[in-house]
Amino acid sequence: MPHLVWAGLALPDAHTPAQPDFAVAVEGTRIIAAGPRHQLAAAYPDAPQTGSADYLLLPGFTNSHDHGRGLGTFPLGAPDDLLEIWLPGLFSQPAVSPYLLAAWESVMLLRSGVTLTAHSQNPQNWLHMGDEAHELLRGYRDAGVRVAFHPPLVDQNPLVYAGRAEFLAGLPATLHEAAARFLAPNPLSHADYLTLCDELYRAYHDPVDHTVAIQISPAGGQWCSDALILAAVDFARSHATRVQMHMLETRYQRAYAWRTWGKSFIAHLHEIGALGPWLTLAHMIWIEESDLPLLAESGVAVAHNPGSNLRLRSGVAPVPAYIRHDIPLGIGMDGQTLDDDQDYLRELRLALTLANRPGAHSPTVTAADILHAGLGGGAAVTLGAGAPLGKLAPGALADLVLIDYTEVCRPWMSPLPSTADVLLRKASSRHVRHVMVHGDWKLWEGRATCVDEDALAAAIADELNRYAPTDLAAQAAAAQALAPYLRRFYAAWESAPSKVQPFF
Ligand SMILES: [Zn+2]
Repeated sequence: MPHLVWAGLALPDAHTPAQPDFAVAVEGTRIIAAGPRHQLAAAYPDAPQTGSADYLLLPGFTNSHDHGRGLGTFPLGAPDDLLEIWLPGLFSQPAVSPYLLAAWESVMLLRSGVTLTAHSQNPQNWLHMGDEAHELLRGYRDAGVRVAFHPPLVDQNPLVYAGRAEFLAGLPATLHEAAARFLAPNPLSHADYLTLCDELYRAYHDPVDHTVAIQISPAGGQWCSDALILAAVDFARSHATRVQMHMLETRYQRAYAWRTWGKSFIAHLHEIGALGPWLTLAHMIWIEESDLPLLAESGVAVAHNPGSNLRLRSGVAPVPAYIRHDIPLGIGMDGQTLDDDQDYLRELRLALTLANRPGAHSPTVTAADILHAGLGGGAAVTLGAGAPLGKLAPGALADLVLIDYTEVCRPWMSPLPSTADVLLRKASSRHVRHVMVHGDWKLWEGRATCVDEDALAAAIADELNRYAPTDLAAQAAAAQALAPYLRRFYAAWESAPSKVQPFF
């Protein structure tokens, strides 16, 4: 029997005006009808109803790029810094059971209305990546969050993007051992990586119900050979799945492309045949303006990570340009929200605020534009165009969020701003009451229904309290000792003449 979910106000998608007294009928895992509540109540008179006149009903959000770290990196001892200096610090993070991290991550995502997340795996051990993947996927499944899962591979340029000999020559002899810790080649071969992706794909990929998507991920342009990137593109095309890569996150990644090929990263990817509608690029801050039409023509999607881009001192992505060129845009938290709490509504707020630039010449980016990147736009960026998510419409998968809108507006809110404006300016995870994923309530009264939040938190703390680091202190000391040399090394890149000025 269908089940009606209703609210005093609803946003069926980002661009439709808010609808009063709106309902959806859910049968199994799908929405079978959507419209005025009285019409659906008449059509399904015996259907049980869930809702309130105080609530705003909207589709589930998509977190388009993340690492599912659960705890974030700061609580595990990696303070924010420039990306290139922060990354070596990750090698000294204590390893926590992947299952616990994914389940805890899911709880935080559900609390802010996220029902689909893109998980770029950070393997604790390259050679055990498959075992970790099974545990991570079990964590998402048990808590009830959809996941687009990206096992990564890195096959070049550890520690510095280019000029390794020059960097090592600038180190005192006492630090060569510290640097050597970060320079070991990846023990996972291309062939074994592709076999692992294929095994995960066969075991989990679900193109009908979209509970799990297995995608492929050369981790980032400067860390991956052309051969690896092209093998990933072949894999994605032959398996009808997607590629997700980090790209142009920092100005030094942009400089790497000009140094290496004498052209932009995007022009190089185009030349080797990597660009296409199968590709999602995360971060994308340091793009050349002249490459925007190429991205648009190729159908490449962008996952924007505003909080992470600020915390890791990377910059501000040209979101107005992506919107102007109709480049598919999603928003992801990258495990680095400003409050370190994975609150997706606050991340949307940051995206909206940063997208509206100083100056009378700057275009206005609307709340609806950003909300779309969190709803249907984000689902398309994450699962591909046509993914049945991000809208309240017949045929869509039943991912629903009920927000206490009366509380959002308390004590008073002018009727002039749009509902999307009010949501993005004032709402946060504390207003999210109930979340349905795939037809079931996975968050009820702000609490996860399928996993025990308190038990998960206690188990994580227990693991960390009992953690007996073998080599982590020495690894952390090595990262700290190298930090000033990395800073000086990259600072010298800035003085090199750039062929193209950034356009923002
Ligand atoms: Zn990332």
